[in-house]
Amino acid sequence: MNAPIRSYCRFGLIWTVISAGFVGCTTTTQPENKPAELEPKFTGLVIEQGPTSLGAEPRNHPITCLILHHTAGSLPSSLEILQGKDPKHKVGVHYVVTDEPKPRVIRMVPEHMAAYHAGKSAWGKLNGLNQHSIGIEIINYDGNVYPYSEAQADIIFALCQEIIRHHDIKPWNVIGHSDVSVGRKVDPGSKFPWAKLASLGIGAWPLPNEVADNLKSKRNLSPSHLRGLLSAYGYFLEPGEAGLKLGVEAFQRHFRPAKVDGLIDTETVVILEALLRRYQSKAYREARFTP
Ligand SMILES: [Zn+2]
Repeated sequence: MNAPIRSYCRFGLIWTVISAGFVGCTTTTQPENKPAELEPKFTGLVIEQGPTSLGAEPRNHPITCLILHHTAGSLPSSLEILQGKDPKHKVGVHYVVTDEPKPRVIRMVPEHMAAYHAGKSAWGKLNGLNQHSIGIEIINYDGNVYPYSEAQADIIFALCQEIIRHHDIKPWNVIGHSDVSVGRKVDPGSKFPWAKLASLGIGAWPLPNEVADNLKSKRNLSPSHLRGLLSAYGYFLEPGEAGLKLGVEAFQRHFRPAKVDGLIDTETVVILEALLRRYQSKAYREARFTP
């Protein structure tokens, strides 16, 4: 079938190399390198050591984001690709969650290293998210088509919980590849259990009552208003109508998965406004834009 390039994760492809170069040119102050302190303890969760990946580099920025992906491939092929042996596809990720009946967590890159999983990416004031994030790849051929199993959701929750607690990652910075690479990536897809995870304290979600109440009122549906709201929340949008449509689509894929059409409608605006109200108090605003 017609499968556009952006339908698949492909682990960042060559953009990882470009992005890595870009990040290397920034002048951000480098934190002290304390590898042992960056590794979570994972009490009660078994982490298997997988094959070593070459798709990583020393970390020189604090960990502030957690990025979820689907692999668009089987476990064996994903583990092969994620070893980053191909210099043209130098990819890597910290953790892989398998799709077996009893899913496992496999570690490929230690957290004190930056893995090449996000490629060209932006979120809030951050560019090149590899340096700022932990990456989790989940085995699923297309998270926009195939549901994640309950068992996968359970182990993703346990893994995310430990990582978030260890690094104090804020709810709005628990995001999908499609959120940070708008128009280029569509993983982990509209079937990803964002709502369930949020109900358990993982990631951001609007207050349901607030959304329901505001659906009854008239909202500003102008493109410029929505572009401003999306940018305020963290999305990086290309200019023009097409750029906005891709941004709306990325937002809906995460927060309004029942209808991902890229069109501006009342529900989309209401959900976005509710998220901004919930997470953009003055304190949150200062926190979220401090790299
Ligand atoms: Zn991805």
